Amino acid sequence: MSKYCIGVDLGGTNITIALVDLKGKIKEKIKISTQADRDANFVIKTIIENIKVLVRNISCSQIAGAGIGAAGQIDHVKGVIQFSPNLHWRNIAIVKELKKECHVPVLIDNDANVACYGEYLFGAGKGTKSIICVTLGTGVGGGIIIDGKIYRGAGGGAGEIGHITVESKGRKCNCGNHGCMEAYVGALHIRDRCIEKLKTGRKSIITKIVDGSLSKITPKVLEEAAFYKDELALELWQETGMYLGIGLASLINIFNPEKIIIGGGVANAGKLISDPMMKTIKERALAVSLHDVKIVRAKLGEEAGVIGAAMLALSE
Ligand SMILES: [Zn+2]
Repeated sequence: MSKYCIGVDLGGTNITIALVDLKGKIKEKIKISTQADRDANFVIKTIIENIKVLVRNISCSQIAGAGIGAAGQIDHVKGVIQFSPNLHWRNIAIVKELKKECHVPVLIDNDANVACYGEYLFGAGKGTKSIICVTLGTGVGGGIIIDGKIYRGAGGGAGEIGHITVESKGRKCNCGNHGCMEAYVGALHIRDRCIEKLKTGRKSIITKIVDGSLSKITPKVLEEAAFYKDELALELWQETGMYLGIGLASLINIFNPEKIIIGGGVANAGKLISDPMMKTIKERALAVSLHDVKIVRAKLGEEAGVIGAAMLALSE
């Protein structure tokens, strides 16, 4: 009887490969550098070699399947990474390559979806049916689970929560649009908003904390400044939380989820971001759906991706 799944979290910088039991516990994991400057064949070969290391003491019959979570546009049905800017890959049939070596079901989905699936099964979403995950990092990632299934939309494009418009003539986003939530809440955009405010001549201890080099401003720096009641930092968090709240209120009204699970480094700001976020949500979400939803922090941290990827194999 199968006891394990193999999860692969394929990022632009690192690859984590793990042997995960059916209760979502990692039995053993290997973390390696992606070496994205090498070609796809090299990276795939490295993944296969490391999978072989992980299963060295396990018989094939004990492996239920393998799953991959990768950043970029994924054709989940064909098992192809269509485009990954981080890996510089186009149309790589990674599932086919893995299946040649590992004679078990192999599935792939994008990193945000598999991380959400991990949280849904074994993290902050355990025991629910419908959740939305939001990851607040450099960008703003998202995943949607409806009735226990990853919601991918017509062509796999669903869950791009960071690109909800929160300001009609707002800041330019990396996607080319204006006023996306990511253009206010993404870590680099928070930094840029801070720099813009400083350049209007406002006084703030932020400049002192980063020793004058404004490119070093991070959400962590702004947390520190807010701790000292710096007005500009407090204002930035206030606005960031508000824009996040506008986006989440729309999601609550559309999906009526049981939980919204928030993870990622920017979420470490805690009440600085969650207080204005909750205030905005309460103002903007419709009463029925607001009553049902719990907004909580993610539990699995960076392991959500590899655990969710492993469990993909059992999802179909
Ligand atoms: Zn955008």
